[in-house]
Amino acid sequence: MTRAPYACDPQRSRGRRVSEPTAPTRSEFQRDRDRIIHSTAFRRLVYKTQVFLNHEGDLFRTRLTHSLEVAQLGRSIGRSLGLDEDLIEAVALAHDLGHTPFGHAGQDVLDECMKAHGGFEHNLQSLRVVDKLEQRYPAFDGLNLSFETREGILKHCARRNAQRLEQLEPGGVGARFLLGQQPNLEAQLCNLADEVAYNAHDIDDGVRSGLLELEQLESVPLVQNYLREALAAYPALKGKRLLAETIRRMLSEQVYDIIDATRAAIHASGVASVDEVRRAEVLVVFSPAMRSASTELKRFLFAHLYRHPQVQATRQRAEQVLRDLFRIYAQDESQLPQEYREASSAEGLHRACADYIAGMTDRFAIREHQKLTGLTLF
Ligand code: MG
Repeated sequence: MTRAPYACDPQRSRGRRVSEPTAPTRSEFQRDRDRIIHSTAFRRLVYKTQVFLNHEGDLFRTRLTHSLEVAQLGRSIGRSLGLDEDLIEAVALAHDLGHTPFGHAGQDVLDECMKAHGGFEHNLQSLRVVDKLEQRYPAFDGLNLSFETREGILKHCARRNAQRLEQLEPGGVGARFLLGQQPNLEAQLCNLADEVAYNAHDIDDGVRSGLLELEQLESVPLVQNYLREALAAYPALKGKRLLAETIRRMLSEQVYDIIDATRAAIHASGVASVDEVRRAEVLVVFSPAMRSASTELKRFLFAHLYRHPQVQATRQRAEQVLRDLFRIYAQDESQLPQEYREASSAEGLHRACADYIAGMTDRFAIREHQKLTGLTLF
C-alpha cells in the first residue's frame, strides 16, 4: 500500500525538540516506536490496571495488553487507508503511558490532590513521561519523540494546560487545542481504535470475570447482532467460544465500518495534505449507525461493569491507597526517592509527588502503602 497524500510522512516530520542525526536504517516514526518500547514507563504498563486489578486474575487485560490491542486495530485499519503504520504503532503504544495505578480511580484521586497545584490529567502525563520523566539519554530528558507522535499522545488537553504548553513551546502540541484543530489521521485513528479495543475487551473480561452475563448483553444492540449471527452460523456454540466468536465478529465489523466511513469522510473533505487534515473536521470516524451503537455499548459497560459493586469496592480501596500516599509524601518529602526530592526543587513538591505516584504499578503502590501506613487494604 502506498502512502496516501494525507498520511504523515516521516521524511517530512516537523522534527524533534532536540535535533538529532537521522538513523541509518529506520524512519523517524519507527525510531519513536522503538524508543517507546524500550522505555521504563512502557514496561510498567504490564502491572497497571485497565478495569480489573492485575492480581485479580492472570488473564484480564492490563494497560500493556490493551495498548497492544489498540496498536493491532490501528495498524490493521491504517494499512487499508494508506496511513503510516509506524506512527500509528508509536502513538498506540504510548497513549496510556501516563496512566496512574488503578485505572481511572487513580487519575481522579491525583487530580483532586493536585487541585491547588495545576491538576492532573493522564493525557498530559503521558506527554510528560515522553518529554521529561524518562531518563535514558545523555543529551536530553525524555525520549525526544517526533512532533507527530507527541501530537498523537496528547489526545485531550484542558484549555489552561494548552495555554501553559503553548508558552513553553509556541506552535507546539498545545496549539491545536487553542485553535480548535485536529491532530494527524494516525493520531485520530488511535483515538477511535482505543474505543473499539476497550469496548470489546471489557465485554470479554467482564463476562469471564463473572460480573457480566452473556444474556445481559443481549439487550445491547451491537452485541446482540453478532451474538445472533454467531448462533445462526453455529447453533450449538456456547460458553467462551460463543463469547469469542461474538466479539471477533463485532471487531471485524467495526474495523470495516471505520475504513468505509473514514474513506468517505476523507473524500468528502477533499484533504490532500497533513496540514489540511489538521484544519478539517475529525475524519477518522464510525458511520452514524455504528457511532450510536458504540456509544450505547459504552453506556451499558458504564452502568453494568464500571459501576458494578465489586469494581466500585476495589475502586474505593484504590482511592484510599493513593490519597494516603500523596498525603504522606507531601507532608514528609524524605519519604520520596532521591530523584523525586531533587525534582521537587524545580517543579514543586506536589508535582514531584504526583509524578512519583503516577509512575507506580498497582502492586508497588499497594506495597508502599502497606509499608508506610501498616494497613492491608488488598
Ligand atoms: Mg487506552
